[in-house]
Amino acid sequence: MHNKARLVIIGSGIVGASAAYHLAQLGWKDILVLDQGPLFDTGGSTSHAPGLVFQTNSSKMMTGFAQYTVELLNELEYEGQPCFYPVGGIEVAYTPERWEDLKRKHGWAQSYGLESALLSPAEVQEHIPLLDPQVIHGGYYVPSDGDAVAVAAVAAMAAFAEDKGAANFQGQVQVSDIEVRDGRVRAVNTDRGRVETEQVLLCTNIWAPVLAEKVGLEIPLMAVEHQYLISEPLPELSGETRAIVHPILRHQDFSMYFRQHAEAYGIGSYKHEPLLVDPHELGKTATRPFTPEHFDVAHRAANELLPSLKGVEFPQKFNGMFAFTADGMPIMGPASQAQGLWVAVGVWVTHAGGVGRSIARWMDSGAPGEDLHEADISRFHPHVFTRAYIQARCAQQYREVYDIIHPLQQMEHPRNLRLSPFQARLEALKGEFFESSGWERPQWYNANRNLLGEFGRDVPERSGWEARYWSPIQGAEHLATRQHVALFELSAFTKIEVSGRGALGYLEHMAANRIDQPVGKVVYTSFLDQTGGIKCDLTVTRLEADHFLVLTGGGMGRHDLAWMRRWAPEDGSVQLRDVSSEYCTLGLWGPDARRALEGVCEEDISNEAFPYYTAQNLKVETVPALTLRVSYAGELGWEIYAPSEFGRHLWDVLWEAAQPYGVIAAGGGAFDSLRLEKGYRLWGADIHTDYNPYEAGLGWAVRPDKGDFIGREALLRAREQELQRKLCCMTLDEAGGMALGKEPILDGERVLGYVTSANYGYSVGKHIVYGYLPADYASPETPVLVEYFGRRQPATVTREPLYDPENAKLKA
Ligand code: FAD
Repeated sequence: MHNKARLVIIGSGIVGASAAYHLAQLGWKDILVLDQGPLFDTGGSTSHAPGLVFQTNSSKMMTGFAQYTVELLNELEYEGQPCFYPVGGIEVAYTPERWEDLKRKHGWAQSYGLESALLSPAEVQEHIPLLDPQVIHGGYYVPSDGDAVAVAAVAAMAAFAEDKGAANFQGQVQVSDIEVRDGRVRAVNTDRGRVETEQVLLCTNIWAPVLAEKVGLEIPLMAVEHQYLISEPLPELSGETRAIVHPILRHQDFSMYFRQHAEAYGIGSYKHEPLLVDPHELGKTATRPFTPEHFDVAHRAANELLPSLKGVEFPQKFNGMFAFTADGMPIMGPASQAQGLWVAVGVWVTHAGGVGRSIARWMDSGAPGEDLHEADISRFHPHVFTRAYIQARCAQQYREVYDIIHPLQQMEHPRNLRLSPFQARLEALKGEFFESSGWERPQWYNANRNLLGEFGRDVPERSGWEARYWSPIQGAEHLATRQHVALFELSAFTKIEVSGRGALGYLEHMAANRIDQPVGKVVYTSFLDQTGGIKCDLTVTRLEADHFLVLTGGGMGRHDLAWMRRWAPEDGSVQLRDVSSEYCTLGLWGPDARRALEGVCEEDISNEAFPYYTAQNLKVETVPALTLRVSYAGELGWEIYAPSEFGRHLWDVLWEAAQPYGVIAAGGGAFDSLRLEKGYRLWGADIHTDYNPYEAGLGWAVRPDKGDFIGREALLRAREQELQRKLCCMTLDEAGGMALGKEPILDGERVLGYVTSANYGYSVGKHIVYGYLPADYASPETPVLVEYFGRRQPATVTREPLYDPENAKLKA
């Protein structure tokens, strides 16, 4: 075996092989792929997967991974045999609710450029004659879905990489350790000796936590058992020699799927309590004995849908294991624990083509070339790595694998992990709590129900799907904020201190806007990646000459911090400190915000003394607080940061001071519609690395001529080019129109884009929709359509922002 390599990939399942294949395509050489099992039937999950590839997913990233997997597998063959059977895929609706959901799914497919159709029960039966059309409401069909021959695909990709002289695959070599010295990967140790290397890509899936923890890397995933059975030959399929002809089939109301195996049928079932396996207790194969007691319900449902299965035996059956991650998404990217250590785990066969290509690009150029924030290894907050959390969440991901999930659906457990010092006050106001990164954040306050008397007529009613996780109170809170003043609980914000003699230079290198501003200035900026995509969206406040405060959202705080750490100089000239938990945060916003605050602070906070987009330390009664005159709600006011222990008192002081002005507490629901009226972009939805600041309408916040910074060259190129697409504001033309996000935007039958953000604008009296449109559709007054659960609604591109375009309120 080689004792030196440029890169060692650990794991030769479909993910490891796909990564090697794509690195080979990028011209990499000297890659060693090691697997503890025999090649290529290693005994890992890939060896046991029946290979169904259903591409549609609510996530654009996941759909994109799958679309590329299909494209790739269609091109591969092994020993003259295909690696993919493009037989199509059908998901059937057993309940009316599922039928509605399939319409939503059809919308996602359009949004992400995947051909799909809704079928009547009889049409479904035409595709799958074994199926009883009486028991379903219809089906959702994707003609390009199909079945992967996963092990053959691994072998084909390995052959490609080996033939190119790029990689060498070795079976029956178990890696026991990764050597890290001075923060860098140096070697891997195996049962066949040591291999010197500076880079390792961990593709060991269900086994990943075992090796990872040896280098201090925590990976929040668990192996979970899942049942698979293959029937004896069915008379209806007698004589069929082709591996698979019928479309693959999902029966999600019973958490099952089916595929044809020539004359027989295979059944996969998730319809049982999660059977979690500790990664340390795994053997060398991803299977366990079949547990018949877990198959009863699924068996009955299978017989009902496919009556031909009644009474047949299942000579092959087993519980196979694959990985469920804490949030259901893959985990990929560079590990911060050691330079040169990369991870790509928690990936299905379905997504392995796309994941392999993206991780290869990422390793090759430092940027994956597309938005991967949902899969980024740096996204997890520390509590996610606790065993209790991993077990609870991985089990729930398993339970919900085929569930109908509302975009605002809240996890039930674990909850109440991170509470702000205001919690008692929020509870007293009957806050309806939503979870975000472990924090409990009020979405609205039931104590504000009385506001409906004053504002209710401007809050359109909702019913059904769009009324879930929503209350008209949100609308009333929105309007009360615009009219009077409101307190918003914002403690989940991420706060990162940047200090040291190199702090300014470092931040100038990170940021696309100019950071060298007078002390006290707040700067709104993007951090770009090397391709000019928006990697982070945040504010930087200069507290002292060499001392800055970076403020970013709670959800993506870890991601942003990892990006900042990655680029921090190693010479000690810059210190980064995550001080999020040290400070609580309140937003005090509304036309009466100044009157309320000036009554309790010692300083002059007039517009002249405390202008917009500046920061000052204030004494708010007895509370020392850093205050920023900014507002994501688009109203006069301040973000107030105080040491956490002062939080409760701060709340009481402000609450008391603002009583004469009719202060209310307002929640996240109001916050979102307020920001959308103001056209403020939400990172992760409206903006991310797929888009550059010009496309996102943020060209005003970049200074490409200020000197060098990450992404500058790409930005300069983008500036020279004509814009091909643009983030646009649209409003739905009809009262009662609806969109929640991710719906397709069309011109007739042509899909133009999809909804990145949507909410009702209670002050402007319109349902607002944002999305990227081709440049020739971006002019105001352009008519488009927005499809919601199959219903096409007229909408019109409008000038933005819809509310206070002159910023007069903010600068008052
Ligand atoms: P694996 O294939 O498990 O590869 C990891 C490799 O790492 C293994 O070969 C292992 O031997 C090796 N390894 C681990 N530790 C070490 C070490 N220390 N040293 C050396 N080597 C090591 N997905 C779909 O998309 N569609 C399906 O229909 C589908 N059905 C499934 C049905 C079943 C029963 C199962 C079990 C899985 C199914 N999956 C399906 C999931 C899918 O199979 C996996 O998610 C996918 O194969 C994972 O690929 P991988 O390369 O990450 O992992």
